[in-house]
Amino acid sequence: MMDSLEEKWKGLKLLEEERVGTELEEDSSTELIYKEQRTVLEKIYASRLISNEVSMTKVWRIIKAMKFTEVSPNVFAIVFENVADKVRVWEGRPWLFENQVLVLKEFEGYKPLHRVNFDTECFWVRIHNLPISHNLPISCMTKVRDEQIRGTVGKVERVDVQEDGSGWGNFLWAQVLLDLTKPIARGRTLTVRGISFWVPLSYEKFPKICFSCGCMVHGVNGCCGDQGNNEGKEKQYGSWLRAKQIPR
Ligand SMILES: [Zn+2]
Repeated sequence: MMDSLEEKWKGLKLLEEERVGTELEEDSSTELIYKEQRTVLEKIYASRLISNEVSMTKVWRIIKAMKFTEVSPNVFAIVFENVADKVRVWEGRPWLFENQVLVLKEFEGYKPLHRVNFDTECFWVRIHNLPISHNLPISCMTKVRDEQIRGTVGKVERVDVQEDGSGWGNFLWAQVLLDLTKPIARGRTLTVRGISFWVPLSYEKFPKICFSCGCMVHGVNGCCGDQGNNEGKEKQYGSWLRAKQIPR
């Protein structure tokens, strides 16, 4: 609704009084800033109504009260009792509820809600079969990370490394911001010195996805997958994309 209104605005010839920008004064009171620091936005992609408040208190194991306000259908502003609770929940992303992904976004009080993109969320991705060199010092791993992963799977937020800068074993964990409306990446083909090989990906906290198109969330055009008769064909997506969760 708001998107279409904003689109319409772009085509309007504005009158002088409509065009002149009114600058809103920022309310920078400490109380407001403290509230912002304790708040996140949450979107639930669920086909049925769920009691979000009670459920998430259990999932997040939060004892102190949280205040949920539904600011749009299935979108909630959640104010935690303290900053520590908020940080713990934020750092623990992604969160699933009934196997559906819950999308959390930073609360930026001065941003209109329709400008918040709820189509992305961070996931821990396990990147298998990397070249042996990724176990060497950080420079090699950064090369792998920057040149071969970023921009192909998604934006890399964090990489799980040992203190000496190497990865764990023969795979690498990276926290990647995924576009939920795109088919989940099953791997990437890497080429090193002319040799191509398949680098499979698997996901910690793997949510429910559409096995037809591989998306976690269908975009406005619905499912784009092959919904025909798949008999005899290799399944393109499945629970084999799930990685064992490790404590961190
Ligand atoms: Zn689909």
